[in-house]
Amino acid sequence: MESRPGDGRSGPTNLRSVPVGKPGDGRPVHPRAQTKGGGGMSLSAVEPAVGQPDLKSLFESAADDGTEVLKDAPLGEKTTLRAGGAADWYAEPNTIEGLAALVRVCREHNLPVTVLGLGSNFLVLDSGVRGLTVRLCGEPFVAIETDGEHIRCGAGARMKKVATEARRSCLAGMEFLEGIPGSIGGGLRMNAGAMGSEMVEIVEGVSFMDKAGEVFEMAGSDIEFSYRSCPLLKNQIALGAVLRGRPDSAEAIAERMAAYSQKRWDSQPAARSAGCIFKNPEAIPAGKLIDELGLKRTSEGGAMVSEEHGNFIINKGGATAADFLKLIDRIRQRALDERGIELKTEVQIIGKTLEHD
Ligand SMILES: Cc1cc2nc3c(=O)[nH]c(=O)nc-3n(C[C@H](O)[C@H](O)[C@H](O)COP(=O)(O)OP(=O)(O)OC[C@H]3O[C@@H](n4cnc5c(N)ncnc54)[C@H](O)[C@@H]3O)c2cc1C
Repeated sequence: MESRPGDGRSGPTNLRSVPVGKPGDGRPVHPRAQTKGGGGMSLSAVEPAVGQPDLKSLFESAADDGTEVLKDAPLGEKTTLRAGGAADWYAEPNTIEGLAALVRVCREHNLPVTVLGLGSNFLVLDSGVRGLTVRLCGEPFVAIETDGEHIRCGAGARMKKVATEARRSCLAGMEFLEGIPGSIGGGLRMNAGAMGSEMVEIVEGVSFMDKAGEVFEMAGSDIEFSYRSCPLLKNQIALGAVLRGRPDSAEAIAERMAAYSQKRWDSQPAARSAGCIFKNPEAIPAGKLIDELGLKRTSEGGAMVSEEHGNFIINKGGATAADFLKLIDRIRQRALDERGIELKTEVQIIGKTLEHD
């Protein structure tokens, strides 16, 4: 029987834990996602006869699910840093099929697609983001449900909510998600981790969409994860995941979550930030290095190295993306000159010209 969006059987919550397709092997797993755009709809039929195509109409009629597509949408306000420019085009798709259609329009028009999660590791350049930026916050993308010792969740679900659901279901192993202020999609892409655990340890399976709008599933064990990265998702859109827990008492889980939360409050600033700006080099934690270089409280415009944690750069008010980038460069230069250490950014710097894509 064919499933429909919103009926509880379609979308990321239907994830199976075995790989049934990989990008390029031509075995999509979400047949309804193929039915629009590249699947036969003529894009030229809705273009004006002369001049540039009316992209807004093109996007919205291709999605065909009531999704509104905005032009020049400010993105900084959707990030925890509250800095940066606008997306040329921005949409919060209502359905997986709508998302697939939008992605196909982008492919046909050679426009890049950017995925914004909860914006907690996302530094948007002041010049903005070319092409289409999508955020998966609609109903089909945020569901969380327990299935035995597994939690099925959409890519737009908050990691904190997933941790709460795991505690409610007496499933241990996801406590570390409680204080990471991102979505499951962002957590997968970043292989988010805290308190000695990482996403890779709990991922049973992932569903994702490629640039052709086709949907695939892969077992977690077949996906490469590395320190704060999942290369597969650099060019694919995560749609959902099945996470693996292990039975434990709700009290023991709650105790660990409370201890983790306390540890965060004791060591991290409450001000606006993107969490750790740099990946930890092997030689020394980045925060300790920055502290030893005497760079705490150093600022550029509205961006300042936090007093509480050297690896956090906060927006003390009115910071631009350029302020953050200048401060990042300054810290990297000092680390290189004085300690011979090359710091790499963990924060994702988003926004490229079409020429660079
Ligand atoms: C106060 C604070 C504390 C933090 N603590 C931690 C911590 O302890 N551990 C940790 O690892 N991180 C931490 N972070 C950073 C951040 O929360 C994580 O990196 C998180 O995983 C980002 O999720 P997001 O939804 O906000 O993603 P975003 O910031 O929106 O995006 C991050 C990257 O993921 C990509 N992305 C987002 N969604 C998808 C998707 N569906 N498919 C494919 N790609 C996608 C984006 O394109 C971008 O490249 C912290 C941040 C803050 C502000």
